[in-house]
Amino acid sequence: MVDNKVIHNFGAGPSIMPREVFEQASKSILNFNDTGLSILEIGHRTPLFQDVMDEALATVRELMNLDSDHEVLFLHGGASTQFFQIPMNLLNEQQTAAYLDGGVWGKKAIKEAKLFGQVDVVASSKDRNYTYIPKNYTVPETAAYFHYTTNNTIEGTQMHAIPETSVPLVADMSSDILSRTMDFNRFALIYAGAQKNIGAAGVNMVIIRKDILGKVSRPLPSMMDYREHITAGSMLNTPPVFAIYVCLLTLRWLKAHGGVPAIEAINDQKAALLYGTLDRLPIFRPTVAKEDRSKMNAVFVMDDPALEQEFLALCKANGMIGVKGHRSVGGFRVSMYNAMSLEGIQTLTELMLDFAQKKS
Ligand SMILES: *Cc1c(COP(=O)(O)O)cnc(C)c1O
Repeated sequence: MVDNKVIHNFGAGPSIMPREVFEQASKSILNFNDTGLSILEIGHRTPLFQDVMDEALATVRELMNLDSDHEVLFLHGGASTQFFQIPMNLLNEQQTAAYLDGGVWGKKAIKEAKLFGQVDVVASSKDRNYTYIPKNYTVPETAAYFHYTTNNTIEGTQMHAIPETSVPLVADMSSDILSRTMDFNRFALIYAGAQKNIGAAGVNMVIIRKDILGKVSRPLPSMMDYREHITAGSMLNTPPVFAIYVCLLTLRWLKAHGGVPAIEAINDQKAALLYGTLDRLPIFRPTVAKEDRSKMNAVFVMDDPALEQEFLALCKANGMIGVKGHRSVGGFRVSMYNAMSLEGIQTLTELMLDFAQKKS
């Protein structure tokens, strides 16, 4: 996003945000709500910031239709902190937690959980480089919880249904939260780093069903104890004020644009257009099982590395950035988060068509 130059940012995170959010955030750095103060200098316990926090929490509740059993928190440390904070709060040493190994991020969560208790990896798609979502597994009923990643940002797979189990569900939704309608109340815990679909890096959204807390025997440091954060209204210490403010702006933007059902309809169109184009052009080869394709991150390669370099350079020359694939997969990754418009995807698919025609 540059004033006089059109850039299409397909980066995986930190990623594109709505232009209105950039504009409002810029204004508020100089003069927040006509107070003559910058959002960067106001105390977090002032009514000015309390209003930001209250509205952000209420808007999350509204957009996700959360019931009163669920609490919303804004915490620090990114999604990666949740990898260990979750087992620390929910898993006793002798207990077992079930995990799905669906990608690089899930694998990291598994590694951290092992520091606190037993881990049962109920299924894995590692055998085929995480290019599909494991199916036909059972979650043992005695598991403390079942953890999975709803959208595998790096590999480009997505779980399109909520697993059927009576075990409390814990989900890493970092890269597809608020992108599609779901019964969010079915989850015991949802977490997401903000920098993909919610806002600026530096804050983490956590949604917790309160009855799962208070069951572990280990003592918890205050900053790691969800109950302390709930009691303190996400202000146990100084929260990341600006990052939360940017989240609020993005949440307002989403609400004004019709909320989750409306953005889901656009996300469906974007994914249909991009995957439809990839399927029509043999020069591009999507790497993921068709039924498990992510509507947020499309991953594909070309068979000729020289052509890959050429297409990357072409994208760059046309102001399309962030399309290079993750170093562990190679090729390309096109992220289509909420703030990416259908026009942005159209611009890219036109370039792909042109390129394929010239090369055929
Ligand atoms: C980006 C990402 C993370 C890591 O988030 P951080 O905020 O950098 O810790 C974890 N899980 C998923 C699914 C992600 O996409």
